[in-house]
Amino acid sequence: MTTGNFIDVATIWVHAGKGGDGAVSFHREKFVAAGGPDGGDGGRGGNVIFVADDNLSTLLDFRYKRKYTAKDGENGRGARQKGRDAEDLVIRVPRGTVLKEADSGLVVADLSDGKPVVVAKGGRGGWGNARFATPTRQIPRFAKPGLPGEDLHLTLELKVIADVGLIGFPNVGKSTLLSVISAARPKIANYHFTTLTPVLGVVRVGPEQSFVCADIPGLIEGAAEGVGLGHDFLRHVERCRLLLHVVDVSGSEGRDPKEDFEQINKELAGFSAELAQRPQIVLGNKCDVATPEQVEEFRRFVEDKGLTFLPISAAAHTGIEGLPALVYNRLADLPPVRVFEAEYHRPDLSDAPQRPFTVQRTGDHEFTVDAPWLERILAGTNVEDYESLQYFQTQLGDSGILDELVRQGVEEDDTIKIGEYEFDYVY
Ligand code: GDP
Ligand code: MG
Repeated sequence: MTTGNFIDVATIWVHAGKGGDGAVSFHREKFVAAGGPDGGDGGRGGNVIFVADDNLSTLLDFRYKRKYTAKDGENGRGARQKGRDAEDLVIRVPRGTVLKEADSGLVVADLSDGKPVVVAKGGRGGWGNARFATPTRQIPRFAKPGLPGEDLHLTLELKVIADVGLIGFPNVGKSTLLSVISAARPKIANYHFTTLTPVLGVVRVGPEQSFVCADIPGLIEGAAEGVGLGHDFLRHVERCRLLLHVVDVSGSEGRDPKEDFEQINKELAGFSAELAQRPQIVLGNKCDVATPEQVEEFRRFVEDKGLTFLPISAAAHTGIEGLPALVYNRLADLPPVRVFEAEYHRPDLSDAPQRPFTVQRTGDHEFTVDAPWLERILAGTNVEDYESLQYFQTQLGDSGILDELVRQGVEEDDTIKIGEYEFDYVY
């Protein structure tokens, strides 16, 4: 089993579209004073849909754009013309992304397969007044407004598994190299154990080929200062399948590249014998300021150990053209540990329908019921239609609202207010 070493986090807001309003309109013809009602229904507001995309590896984009709003449905028009339904807003996230409600932490969805998930529903369009024409009510002057779409404040979480770790002494050019080879440099918001943030970079090799590279700072810095940060980071390097060991071949800070190389490896071995065995590619950096002899001497040293050596200059961008492909191909030969594993499971809410409500006496013969879910049902209820009304009343009963009204002493003909609707209590 593999777990990711880093958790990438972003917080966003999604707004589904509002339904279009129903139209109030009357049929007009020449020489006809007033025709029947013919206002069309509003269109549905756009849903917000999430879908997993294997081409994405980080939540980077969500740190720049945080508000996502689907389009509103079109309003209804005269002549019974229905407003158009709005297009859904599709948001692509890396596979394995878990969506949670930001405030409660409740899991909304996990995008571990390719199935799109509707996360916020667009509002239903309101009925046009054509719907309200009945034999007894020939001239309805009202129509229903479209319902608002759902709003959600979401936390996105993604376990990012860094395939490759950049190791080496401070100032050898690790950060410079990562910035040169990676297109995306997400700053990881929520780091597991420390407040220090390792930098991850997504290195793109081809349109669908990429790997995640972690810049591991603090390897020697922390250890030298006795802070122990070095080892916290090592815990994460542990899961990298391949290490890029960066060495300053020019010895520009008065250091000996061979000694540096050995010391870092000693540090790794000190942490775990297995880590010392992790495949390494050795990058001799700062070749632009090194003599050819320095480079050759270090090359022999590395190749004698049976390791791959690549002379580069991260700052001058030389020698690195083939690096992404080299790393990618090497990774392909290594056992795959990069699995997408959803750690969270969507709670099964089917057994416990959440239908909260409050009932309040708001007048001598008036009660107000506050239950947003019921208002949604009401909005879709045709009060002229027996079956439709029956369904609504079943909901009133099943949810316990009727019992609560009785408990509070409701009487025949009392007024019950639910959202924008009013009913007389009849039994
Ligand atoms: P890190 O501590 O390993 O992340 O090293 P940095 O990437 O921060 O680089 C340390 C210093 O070395 C910076 O001043 C860089 O500009 C410089 N540097 C990095 N790569 C090269 C290189 O290829 N040639 C030269 N001359 N300087 C470099
Ligand atoms: Mg650095």
